[in-house]
Amino acid sequence: MNDDVGFSCTSCGKCCHDLKLPLSISEAVDWLERGGEVGVICDLMPWVDEPPLTDMVALRKKSLSFEATSGQLKVRVTPILVAQYEGPCPHLLSDFRCGQYESRPLACKIYPAELNPLQVFDPNSKLCPSDAWQAEIFIPLINQEVHLAIETMNKLSVLEVNAKANLCRIMNINSAALSNQGYVLHQPDRTTFQKALTEINDMIQSGTLPESSADWCVLTHLDVTAADLKSVGAVFEQIQLENLSKTVSIPNGIYIGFGG
Ligand code: SF4
Ligand code: SF4
Repeated sequence: MNDDVGFSCTSCGKCCHDLKLPLSISEAVDWLERGGEVGVICDLMPWVDEPPLTDMVALRKKSLSFEATSGQLKVRVTPILVAQYEGPCPHLLSDFRCGQYESRPLACKIYPAELNPLQVFDPNSKLCPSDAWQAEIFIPLINQEVHLAIETMNKLSVLEVNAKANLCRIMNINSAALSNQGYVLHQPDRTTFQKALTEINDMIQSGTLPESSADWCVLTHLDVTAADLKSVGAVFEQIQLENLSKTVSIPNGIYIGFGG
């Protein structure tokens, strides 16, 4: 947890550059309306057995994902909507203040605090310069606004899983990378995205959102994983990386692989 951490933002602007910023559904609608780009990161986990009730990490992963299949393999898929941009965020002003401060996404309100209550807070993993942690007067990292943003984002992340699963279904998004091996960023065009979001909102309002389940294709760049997936009857596609961590284009998106 981050409760006893002191912090004072230096307005260096580093956290407002080159990010994939997680968004709720309503934030995605707003972001697109303001002219920004939104993508969908899909993360997939084989899910053969249910975890014990004492495995808090697995239970959190379960709550953020939906049940699906990949051929004969049972899996869970975590869909994350992200505002994507290279370079400075379109809302970043020249003096590094936020041009949308009052209506900035929850993720912006939370940073550099941790969203995940199970994650140990480590200032060294953050982009903030060292003087942000060394203010002479103690200012808590978690004030009331940050606390509320963490609570709201955690709740929405669980509540919106099925709506995001349906978004994937409507936009024909059905490929994902394995957790910790890479990720797939799907980049539907703006019109497709806005139409799908409207459809989802209509179904939510009318209470007709179905439980979504689909067959997913696992993308991997690792020979050993491809062999494992084949042996369990999963649907998969092997991606060729020219260099480690290099981005590879796939239809309507990119695949980024980690490690060897
Ligand atoms: S919306 Fe504001 S706080 Fe969030 S990344 Fe953009 S400039 Fe930074
Ligand atoms: S990286 Fe940290 S110190 Fe710099 S603007 Fe973001 S929150 Fe503030």
